[in-house]
Amino acid sequence: MSSMASILRRKPNQKPFLNTQIRLFTESNSNNIKTTPPQQQQQQRIEKILIANRGEIACRIMRTAKRLGIRTVAVYSDADKHALHVKSADEAVHIGPPPARFSYLNGSSIVEAAIRTGAQAIHPGYGFLSESADFAQLCEDKGLTFIGPPVSAIRDMGDKSASKRIMGAAGVPLVPGYHGSEQDIDLMKLEADKIGYPILIKPTHGGGGKGMRIVKNANEFVECFLGAQREAAASFGINTILLEKYITQPRHIEVQIFGDKYGHVLHLYERDCSVQRRHQKIIEEAPAPNVVNDFRSHLGQAAVSAAKAVDYHNAGTVEFIVDTVSGQFYFMEMNTRLQVEHPVTEMIVSQDLVEWQIRVANGEPLPISQSQVPLSGHSFEARIYAENVPKGFLPATGVLHHYRPAPVSSTVRVETGVEQGDTVSMHYDPMIAKLVVWGENRAAALVKLKDCLSKFQVAGVPTNINFLEKLANHWAFKDGSVETHFLEHHKDDLFVDPNNLGLAKEAYSGARFSAALLAACVCEKEQSALKESPPGDNSVLSIWYAHPPFRVHHRTKCTMELEWYSEYDSSGPKLLPLSVTYLPDGNYLIEMEENGLSRFKVKATHLSNNGFRVEADGVSMDVSLAIYSQDWTKHIHIWHGSHHYHFRQKLGLQLTDDDETHHRTSFETASHPPGTVLAPMAGLVVKVLVKDGMKVEEGQPILVLEAMKMEHVIKASSAGYVHGLQAMAGQQILDGSVLFCIKDE
Ligand code: ADP
Repeated sequence: MSSMASILRRKPNQKPFLNTQIRLFTESNSNNIKTTPPQQQQQQRIEKILIANRGEIACRIMRTAKRLGIRTVAVYSDADKHALHVKSADEAVHIGPPPARFSYLNGSSIVEAAIRTGAQAIHPGYGFLSESADFAQLCEDKGLTFIGPPVSAIRDMGDKSASKRIMGAAGVPLVPGYHGSEQDIDLMKLEADKIGYPILIKPTHGGGGKGMRIVKNANEFVECFLGAQREAAASFGINTILLEKYITQPRHIEVQIFGDKYGHVLHLYERDCSVQRRHQKIIEEAPAPNVVNDFRSHLGQAAVSAAKAVDYHNAGTVEFIVDTVSGQFYFMEMNTRLQVEHPVTEMIVSQDLVEWQIRVANGEPLPISQSQVPLSGHSFEARIYAENVPKGFLPATGVLHHYRPAPVSSTVRVETGVEQGDTVSMHYDPMIAKLVVWGENRAAALVKLKDCLSKFQVAGVPTNINFLEKLANHWAFKDGSVETHFLEHHKDDLFVDPNNLGLAKEAYSGARFSAALLAACVCEKEQSALKESPPGDNSVLSIWYAHPPFRVHHRTKCTMELEWYSEYDSSGPKLLPLSVTYLPDGNYLIEMEENGLSRFKVKATHLSNNGFRVEADGVSMDVSLAIYSQDWTKHIHIWHGSHHYHFRQKLGLQLTDDDETHHRTSFETASHPPGTVLAPMAGLVVKVLVKDGMKVEEGQPILVLEAMKMEHVIKASSAGYVHGLQAMAGQQILDGSVLFCIKDE
């Protein structure tokens, strides 16, 4: 797969990465006095690694291991039997059913799998067991090398409260807050009052922004506190929390550090991860924009001090929150693992951090010193998620009917763990891929990011690609004016409903033009397929035309209706009736009667399976189509330039006379009585907070849904009485299913 072959950025005349690395490690060995770590002399060299993870990170680790000649073992749950990470490994071991707690979080069966397959080491990736001190200890006890930091550092840094105490003692600046062990709700409330609102509640053993709550005032404290505790318990198994002063205009800047087993620690510059939704990163970049060198080196030194304070080795990240008002930075936490966004650092320092991890775990010293760390160009990473952006970025599930990532090159990496046809399930993180680009400077990297996003094609599940494009095109992002509330501050530009901005007409005309292109492409494809098939053979008719097939003769006119669907358009789907006439000159004439007559003359040439070259209005361009059926509906996606449109057509077609093939579609949208509340995502009911028939206030929490370890509270849409509430804790709910109805009596 092309995306598997992603390459770290290399200058044209630079030697292949592997050679560079070997040379660097050898040089460093000869210069170094201390080369044998105290207890590592007897360590067995790693020849086979088990990767205790799935998805893109498992694939990414395997790629480096293979390059180093190290054999790989994958582990998988029932849901991942045919996953890419299983196919990419030399061996694979089944470890349990889909829920992570029975498979990817089951430390003992993973360790057993390593012993059974003869692996000497385990790489935990990120998430799952990567920051479990108990798991790292178990590996050590069983004689396996844990490719990560010492158990003690994981334990100290895994507890955000303890880590703050250690860092405070080491002189690293901290955000004002409460990080004591006393968790009594009344005492915590007193502490919150002392810090002053707004405050931020964080699970002490949290990650990924889960369980965090901003408390604007004292009245909200109790509900937020209990919600955070519940989510922390569900996600991390520990429900202790800490309080921090909420910084209103911050940037999230983190430093990649690396240590070896000889006490050397260096930093590989910083990453800016400020652009976030639900406290989770969407676009990361390295180095941080609009940062002066002096600040950069202070930050780097603080990160190295933090790592040294816990005798760190292997890869780690020290996260800082930067108050843009005062310019002060504070230690937020230290992540004792390889981060999701590590590739942007790799791109600017031209190093493979997974290789460093393996070599350090093998007892080798760091290959270069601080002054030898290069800093070249700029890199962005965009996280492509299956999610519903207009619904508040709720995770989405479904089949990847069409998946064509942007092409990789020496400056573009696509880190992915999925293939076309795979299912994004509710059991794991909904990330589909990471798109990583490099340019000589920020502006050049941004141009590349935008280009690659426009070429990234996914159909079958809603994604954030369109949103990422809007972000990348935003003037403030272009300026590097990033901060953690970027989305909130620019929501009017980023969450554009064309109807609210008077852009409906413009959007509609873009959709009409796209419909014309796709009609021409589909006709062309069907005609060429029909030409090659013997008369009477109906099997070629795969796209929309009705049964039995017809042959378009010159001037044959056929009509059809498409429904244009845009997730951002609050006014709902739009019907587009159109007719296609095949002209003697080989062009198709597409006519649409809606809102006045529009006529498009399009010539289409079929290039590949879903690729076409079209000529319309004197402009020639490449077009891609994806067509699949789902829920009695045909979905047709078209990509051209930086545009992506999604059309639908109901299955079940009606033919009229010989010359006029009529395609009638009726889209009945299910109507529900007023007050009906639908599930905004597929998920598991974790708690039902009221009984059917109860009187509730507007906004009162009714039930709690969980998907992909994220909690979502369903609230009453208005004041009234709850009707038809049948959901029970433990029940699985489908996206869009009726949950309950609020009635006046
Ligand atoms: P997690 O480990 O769950 O990712 P972090 O402590 O790293 O949690 O915080 C996640 C994000 O929340 C940060 O990137 C930042 O945007 C925001 N954040 C964290 N602490 C604060 C704070 N004190 N004030 C304002 N925002 C914060």
